[in-house]
Amino acid sequence: VAEPLRKPEWIRVKAGNSAGRFGEIKSMLREKKLHTVCEEATCPNIGECFGRGTATFMILGDICTRRCPFCDVGHGQPLPPNPDEPRELAESVAALKLRYVVITSVDRDDLRDGGAQHFVDVISNVRELSPTTTIETLVPDFRGRMDVALDVLGGALPDVLNHNLETVPRLYKQARPGADYQHSLDFLKQFKARYPNVSTKSGLMVGLGETDEEILDVMRDLRAHDVEMLTIGQYLAPSGHHLPVTRYVHPDVFKMYEEEAKKMGFTGAACAPMVRSSYWADQQAHSAGVA
Ligand code: SF4
Ligand code: SF4
Repeated sequence: VAEPLRKPEWIRVKAGNSAGRFGEIKSMLREKKLHTVCEEATCPNIGECFGRGTATFMILGDICTRRCPFCDVGHGQPLPPNPDEPRELAESVAALKLRYVVITSVDRDDLRDGGAQHFVDVISNVRELSPTTTIETLVPDFRGRMDVALDVLGGALPDVLNHNLETVPRLYKQARPGADYQHSLDFLKQFKARYPNVSTKSGLMVGLGETDEEILDVMRDLRAHDVEMLTIGQYLAPSGHHLPVTRYVHPDVFKMYEEEAKKMGFTGAACAPMVRSSYWADQQAHSAGVA
């Protein structure tokens, strides 16, 4: 077994970078016993995101029906959706006075609509209680139920629909078993075709074994499927049991991705080592005219 690569100096958790509403949101989460992905994944961007009034929530439980070897979420048989969750989550968003909320979920291959109706219920409740909050949904691929999901999702639309491709097609079998590259692209394209007022977005990780040329090819594929916003960040293995990091991409290379993305016509591209798919989501959406 090869030794893990040494982390370069640009991979650091930014300490003391919290500003604005960070403290207020932190203490409100404690007080109301609320859970965000930001805290649970100990996201390095939490100071900035909370400071800007942005947070990510996971719905539909924390047990996934898939098993992606880069991901730290638990696998198994999930519980049925909690019917109280949409209201409770909307109350949390309102209490926290979030400006921008990202709603994501595990993959629910056990549900007929893949959890689409639950997303819709969450969006309707958040809209009702927080009409000025911008909503981004980071959805699973709805593989095997795309038509049902596309119909159902029209019930309440987010401002931004995000679905991550995560990696290049050559690595799908290894990194995203259960997913299909072309299916994910088709989902993004069909969503945009049906709901043209919603901005579409996708994200990639680097350090899983891909080359830069392959990343640029995926970016071209995304534009060919009408995807408008992009995030690219460095993959960091959650543990020694997860896929190893194959390379740490230099910040200058991330800048190159960002410049290429602009040339290709993405309205927003956030590419940097510590970028996560919801990082600076508000700013990206803002430059795309959404928020
Ligand atoms: Fe939360 Fe996403 Fe920001 Fe991380 S990047 S703190 S997960 S909103
Ligand atoms: Fe993790 Fe998503 Fe894969 Fe489930 S489908 S294991 S939540 S990356």
